[in-house]
Amino acid sequence: MESFHRDTWVEVDLDCIYENVSAIQKHVTEDVSVIAVVKANAYGHGDAQVANVALEAGASYLAVSFLDEAISLRRQGIKAPILVMGASRMSDVGLAAKENITLTVFQKEWLQEAERIYKGNKQVRLHLKLDTGMGRIGARTKNEVLDVVSLIMKSDCFLLEGVYTHFATADELQSRYVETQFERFSELLHEIQQLISPPMIHCGNSATTLRFPGRIFNAVRLGIAMYGLTPSPEMIPTLPFKLKEAFSLHTKLVHVKKLPKGEQVSYGGTYKTNEEEWIGTVPVGYADGWIRKLQGMDVLVDGKLAPIVGRVCMDQFMIKLPYELPLGTVVTLIGKQKGLEISSNDVAKRLETINYEIPCMISYRVPRMFLRNRSIMEVRNYLQDKLIMDKR
Ligand SMILES: *Cc1c(COP(=O)(O)O)cnc(C)c1O
Repeated sequence: MESFHRDTWVEVDLDCIYENVSAIQKHVTEDVSVIAVVKANAYGHGDAQVANVALEAGASYLAVSFLDEAISLRRQGIKAPILVMGASRMSDVGLAAKENITLTVFQKEWLQEAERIYKGNKQVRLHLKLDTGMGRIGARTKNEVLDVVSLIMKSDCFLLEGVYTHFATADELQSRYVETQFERFSELLHEIQQLISPPMIHCGNSATTLRFPGRIFNAVRLGIAMYGLTPSPEMIPTLPFKLKEAFSLHTKLVHVKKLPKGEQVSYGGTYKTNEEEWIGTVPVGYADGWIRKLQGMDVLVDGKLAPIVGRVCMDQFMIKLPYELPLGTVVTLIGKQKGLEISSNDVAKRLETINYEIPCMISYRVPRMFLRNRSIMEVRNYLQDKLIMDKR
């Protein structure tokens, strides 16, 4: 167990992630491979820990956005295949080959140049990305697609393992645009399959997987649902089973005082006590990702809601306590206390954003603690890890 020296921490319940992945694997049947999406440090949850538990629960592939994220997983001992879903540099093809990392391709110029630069003899596995209406990355037209496919087929250094696309509106109950994207994908796929039969075909993110389990070809890219969050609020009533939220955020009272009526709290004096009030201070602030816009949001203390009073500082903020409480009392910013819950959904609603952004925004400064089989198995200080990595 690594040590850390602050009383603010994220708890990641890996049992929840295990159960979410198992439930989704059942939902899509065994014929469909689950690709666990662990980009952005597994949406802020801890990349290798989530990857390992997802693989245990049945996932057979991992996906990240950047080559660096894939390499980070390899350095942590992960052997499973990893797909980089974003664009990679042509000059990094050799590195991808060496580390056995699968790259996404979608431009013929990229392939020509990469082939020219690459000097190795190990084949690089590729997934071809089709842009069927997301408008982000991907080959769009039949000509573009067939150019890329024939270049891969002619080349000795590349292997076309997969073809995929990404839907822009799968989390919206109105499904007309998803249908358009399904159609374009099927048409382009048909053209490709006249020439070659790539073994992995995938179009599903979490929303697609939950809503259209019969139409996802033979693999799904599972992100947000694995973490127990629903892709959009409107999907909550349509869920085929309950998802279990894995992420919670806690701190402890480091100072407690009674203030008389009319006293100011924090920068700018935006809060004044209305009466004699018990005010608590917690050691977490906007540099941890608990941004200033969260002033006024409730936290949980002693099983009760308590509002954030005054401005959130870089490293601390104050809350109005229901009554005097001892130093060291646990304060929950996201999670449950005695039957009350503040979910990432509630924080997202307050910030007028999506739940995806909430665990991602809790910074590396906050150590992640991992629960598995209902016990704290491992403590990892991300800050320390970063420093060690930088020195290598
Ligand atoms: C992030 C991402 C996913 C995962 O999406 P969720 O909505 O979190 O399931 C799937 N595919 C691509 C291309 C992505 O970028």
